[in-house]
Amino acid sequence: MKRIYLISLIFFLSVNFVWAVKKEIAAPDGKLLVSITDEDGHPCYSISYNGMVFLKNSPLGLKTNVGDFTLGLSLSESYKERKIEETYSLQNIKKSEVRYIANEFIFSFKKDEKAAIDVEFRISNNDVAFRYKVYSQGERKVCVVNEEATGFFLPEGTTTFLCPQMKPMTGFARTGPSYETPYSADDEMGKNGWGGGYTFPCLFRVNNNGWILISETGVDSRYCASRLTAHPDGLYMIGFPQEEENNGNGTSSPGIPLPGFTPWRTLTLGETLQPIVETTVPFDVVEPLYEASKKYEYSRGSWSWIIKMDGNTIFPVQKEYIDFSAAMGWETVLVDALWDTQIGRDKIEELAAYGKSKNVDLFLWYNSNGYWNDAPQGPKGFMDNPVSRRKKMAWMKSIGIRGIKVDFFGGDKQVTMKLYEDILYDANDYGLLVVFHGCTLPRGWERMFPNYGSSEAVLASEMLHFSQERCNKEAFSACMHPFTRNTVGSMDFGGSALNEFYNANNTPNRGTKRLTSDVFALATAVLFQSAVQHFALAPNNLTDAPEWAVDFMKEVPSTWDEIKFIDGYPGKYVILARRHGNKWYVAGINAQEETLKLKVELPMFEAGQQVMFYIDDEELNGRQTTFKINKKQQIELVIPCNGGALLIN
Ligand code: CA
Repeated sequence: MKRIYLISLIFFLSVNFVWAVKKEIAAPDGKLLVSITDEDGHPCYSISYNGMVFLKNSPLGLKTNVGDFTLGLSLSESYKERKIEETYSLQNIKKSEVRYIANEFIFSFKKDEKAAIDVEFRISNNDVAFRYKVYSQGERKVCVVNEEATGFFLPEGTTTFLCPQMKPMTGFARTGPSYETPYSADDEMGKNGWGGGYTFPCLFRVNNNGWILISETGVDSRYCASRLTAHPDGLYMIGFPQEEENNGNGTSSPGIPLPGFTPWRTLTLGETLQPIVETTVPFDVVEPLYEASKKYEYSRGSWSWIIKMDGNTIFPVQKEYIDFSAAMGWETVLVDALWDTQIGRDKIEELAAYGKSKNVDLFLWYNSNGYWNDAPQGPKGFMDNPVSRRKKMAWMKSIGIRGIKVDFFGGDKQVTMKLYEDILYDANDYGLLVVFHGCTLPRGWERMFPNYGSSEAVLASEMLHFSQERCNKEAFSACMHPFTRNTVGSMDFGGSALNEFYNANNTPNRGTKRLTSDVFALATAVLFQSAVQHFALAPNNLTDAPEWAVDFMKEVPSTWDEIKFIDGYPGKYVILARRHGNKWYVAGINAQEETLKLKVELPMFEAGQQVMFYIDDEELNGRQTTFKINKKQQIELVIPCNGGALLIN
């Protein structure tokens, strides 16, 4: 292996001689380097890119109830290495075909001359993923991990783009944490969110214009999900779930069999935001956990709840939405909370049959509870246990339901991760896609679970309905997601509303007011990735929205073959392109007060080609026109605040 250096150093520490082993490993292109040491018996690592430090010497290791593997460790001289070159298909997120090229290194640490832990690294050109293997300790074949020492020491002057972890058992009906907090941009280090650290993924700007995204992947029933906690001097660490989550039930400390693995900690970094926007690391290092029981069809659909709320989950309104989805050429309608009492089982069957006659399938909403929070909406008491869950699923299969949306989960403890896995696994037996709301971030689930649809885990469209403040900041948030939340997982935002007002009939001056333009709404249908989309358009938009906007929403796909980052800055503006088949969609939005004027390269289009062009004027009046690609394949885009732009061949 090229670029492996072995340096053995002698340190004087008090009066003792301490041998430290240091190894340096590199990405395939040699720009990204990771160093691993066992200085003073503490396992540590650091990361540089193109000669710049992105992560200072940072702690590794675990404290378990069978041993403290953060100290007294020695790094073995020998290690395993392997080149990984594989291609896999991934229909439901950024790229339909992913080429993963990485170098794998497995380092072993001993404690008292006995095998303690391995740290397994996979390094691709802009990504580092690592996980631990914990060895059995004598008679001990299981352990509880009480604490992970894994840390991320960021260079001085780093700024943060972070989203505070919600306090447990707060928010609507004590459903927190549900990953519904706002990101802040360009903040300083040294804070710890609202006291509980930060939700993954966490974005940092380092070395003036370098970027690093920290997250995790491969989390299932075999561990808990984690967050990032802040400590002095630029150190961030893996934090386990908070005790109060899940109404205090279940442990915060995960348990694993021995030998056993932890999930992957991931870092994506580079000199621009491109590797972060385009990364596939959450999927590269995981495997499908089971076979799909059928070929799942991803879909676009409508849902009445986002505009009309709880009271309208009634038969005539859902029937109207089936007609609406049919008119839009969409495949589904999501029947949200309270259908059990407001529509009933028999009428749902009638609705499903009516949908079939219009080529529109239903998604049905369920409350995940259980015993973890006070969310009152039904149907409730079915998804939390296999007996009634599987009965419901068999019924849904029999009437041709396409999928379920399960809401109001209880946190990130291992017991809750098991619930996500159990629901997905059972649903696959009945050919159902699964969408989660009021939930955690998906962590590699697009590849791990073949019937995984999407997750909310974001301050989503419902908050635009509930809060004018969120409407005022809609463009800011929308300019954050493509660099943060949506980089690592599908995001069921449920947006692209064309209503000016969030009320049942789009009546002026009732409810919250949308400040963003129609072109902005269209652009977010491209910017926000979710293979299962539920758009916030309403039947009235067929007559009160511009025809070109409705026509665009009829044909916009929900699955993509390729992504290209073009330009942007988190919270300010974003321009990216996605390909579906041989069609490229270039989408841009602007959150800055000043109108964005930007020269954009368009290598995806051919010179002389006529493309569709959607653009706003200074008053946010949108229009559809055409644009002839010039010889230089460039365009000067002009996007006012809260506006958007779209180019499509
Ligand atoms: Ca929600």
